[in-house]
Amino acid sequence: MKKTTKVAALVLAAAMMMTACGGNADQAADTGAAADATNADAANTDNEAGADAEQSASVTKTEGVITFGTNAEFPPFEFVASNGVIDQYDGIDMAIAKQIAEDNGMTAAVENMEFDSLLIALQNGQIDAAIAGMTVTEERLESVDFSTPYYTATQVMIVKEDSDIATAADMADKKICVVQGYTGEICVQDLGYPYEAFKKGTEAVMELVNGKCDVVVIDSATAQKYVSDNEGLKIVEDSETFESEEYAIAVRKGNTELLDMINKAVEAKLADGTISDLGVKYTEETTEE
Ligand code: GLN
Repeated sequence: MKKTTKVAALVLAAAMMMTACGGNADQAADTGAAADATNADAANTDNEAGADAEQSASVTKTEGVITFGTNAEFPPFEFVASNGVIDQYDGIDMAIAKQIAEDNGMTAAVENMEFDSLLIALQNGQIDAAIAGMTVTEERLESVDFSTPYYTATQVMIVKEDSDIATAADMADKKICVVQGYTGEICVQDLGYPYEAFKKGTEAVMELVNGKCDVVVIDSATAQKYVSDNEGLKIVEDSETFESEEYAIAVRKGNTELLDMINKAVEAKLADGTISDLGVKYTEETTEE
């Protein structure tokens, strides 16, 4: 696909698909995952309520620095490495974050936290933006603004190689594992199947490897990483059940100045192929070993 077509397709897709699975936005909103959480203590409290008002005056909490929140448990988008692009943090998102800051004559800093805490930390003013392979959903749009989407993904099922699961409906009587607060959890909730939620993708995959569950529902690129790292697993897709999702960067509602800065950089990097090159680079690197 030509790059310009790809950008247009991304934007169009984002406009059309604000739901994670099966066009079931209302239900997704009702099940209230990440954004509804009230455990503000999950986000550090050194910069809390009241920050909002002060911050409307400045674009970022620290002048010259964009503080990005992430959850570095989501390869190839973010993971901890001995020599990352921003401190010890590496991956597609980290490289994009660094370039967004540099394009605006700023530096990028990273705060690593649980995925569930990101939107709260954003609203508290602890971080300026969240970049975490985060899918744009209607529910999340109620509490934050999203940038132009930069990546299209879908939910997939990871199963043992000899599994008889071929479609999402085959999960009905199986033991399902998801990661808490991910769109995969929302999808399984929408399907109405019971499941067990883990804090980390690696934990869910270990359950599968150890035969304690039958299937893990998770984002496509991350699934590929887990399958290449663990023998005896395969990916099963079901595009009728799992619609495509768009990853975008979240900012506090109304922080249009920062959003514009981020969008300009993201759109330029989509148009010149930088983001697609990063996708190739990190997919190869993280699946090599
Ligand atoms: N794309 C999924 C979501 O937004 C998972 C993101 C992540 O784990 N970093 O929920």
